[in-house]
Amino acid sequence: MEEHETACGGCPHNRGSDVCGAPQQQTLLANWQAQAIALFGPDTNNWEFVCPGCGRVQSKADLLALSVFDENADQIIGYSCIDRWQTQECMQIGGPVLLTITPNDIRPTFEFNK
Ligand SMILES: [Zn+2]
Repeated sequence: MEEHETACGGCPHNRGSDVCGAPQQQTLLANWQAQAIALFGPDTNNWEFVCPGCGRVQSKADLLALSVFDENADQIIGYSCIDRWQTQECMQIGGPVLLTITPNDIRPTFEFNK
């Protein structure tokens, strides 16, 4: 992993998409959850994310509708574009929001659909 070179200046997804160069936003988990609840309510199924690769709005409910298992959907939503389970034209992984669970567990996440 030491040889790991980012193709696009250190963006989290390393895929060369147009999110590269966009400012990353570090967000603590509690703040992120509060923001989501303010936007979409407490039901995580309804939280909407925008894929930085294709711009598609997606929620956990959308994943569940594709028969993705509930526990997997929690890992996937906001991180891997739902299009992976459909046309596979967008294979986006990670987004510009650096969701900070702990100082050693920072997850590049899609932005909310504001
Ligand atoms: Zn996408």
